[in-house]
Amino acid sequence: MKIKAYGIKEKGGKAEPFYYERSLGENEVKVKIIYCSIARGDVQYISNDWGDTKFPLVPGHEIVGAVEETGSNVTTLKAGDLVGIGYQLEACFECEFCKEGNEQFCAQQKVIGVDCYGGLAEHIVVDNRFAFKLSPALHSANYVPLLSSGLAVYTGIMKAQLPAHSVVGVLGAGGLGQMAIQFLHKMGHKVYAFSHSLEKKEMINQLGAEFILSSNPGSLAALDKKFDLIISTLNVEYDLDAFLRILKPRGQFCVVASPLKKQSISIGLLYDYAQRTIYGNYVGSRKDMVDMLDFAAKHNMESMVEVMPFSEMNEAIEKVQTGAIKIRLVLKNQE
Ligand SMILES: [Zn+2]
Repeated sequence: MKIKAYGIKEKGGKAEPFYYERSLGENEVKVKIIYCSIARGDVQYISNDWGDTKFPLVPGHEIVGAVEETGSNVTTLKAGDLVGIGYQLEACFECEFCKEGNEQFCAQQKVIGVDCYGGLAEHIVVDNRFAFKLSPALHSANYVPLLSSGLAVYTGIMKAQLPAHSVVGVLGAGGLGQMAIQFLHKMGHKVYAFSHSLEKKEMINQLGAEFILSSNPGSLAALDKKFDLIISTLNVEYDLDAFLRILKPRGQFCVVASPLKKQSISIGLLYDYAQRTIYGNYVGSRKDMVDMLDFAAKHNMESMVEVMPFSEMNEAIEKVQTGAIKIRLVLKNQE
């Protein structure tokens, strides 16, 4: 079958109609795209920031759509089902990681932007095991940012195995940070959100966290050795040492985003009167996705999204490139 998508031919180029051939495998589903986000990661793929983009690129790795056709082996989805699709589209299901249920570490995995065309398209064909049924509990546009950003943040938090009523810091209050605050607050933890922008205070408070102005060093001293976990969503340089110092003994520091430049660290802070750890998290497994979507539906997670029509996709991409948009931008397909 011929799939109509919107491709970017070269680094920094514009999205324009692009057609590719794709057959429907026995385990695959063809999904009509309803919503697709344009995230910071997409514009970083467009500018080839990580050096692994394959052009033509069809961006879009947070997708909500309706199943239109199913392969002969597919039993769990049927035409008309509302599904969410994230960054990962395939895994081998045979390696040690797949067998233990951590398909996100599979060496054979296929992801949007590097191995596959994404959701800025009329349709997408994916393995049914990477198309996740969505409950009608949330508005379907609200699910979009959860499918990749939400998954990365949720899985990073769950890895910490926090005791009830922990004290947690969230660095940054953009798309990832807003989700981290909500997840942690709804899990019953005490949340402090560190941001440089005073204008985000009200929003942060509404989401359930205390606001800390990160440019005020005095505020960090007052929080000394208070934190069980700090989760960083920052993609700009920051003083890692200052945040390691305010972790409790055995406190954990989780990174779900990183600055493009190397960060320096005083490594002794991991053991001085403590046993602190730093870990990173990359998306999540299929089970993490199902758990996260259930949690989000049950707790009525709000994703702050601005919706624009597919017809304005290049304006949307430019808005994200120039930083003119502070919340997640979601494109709605009106065809
Ligand atoms: Zn595998």
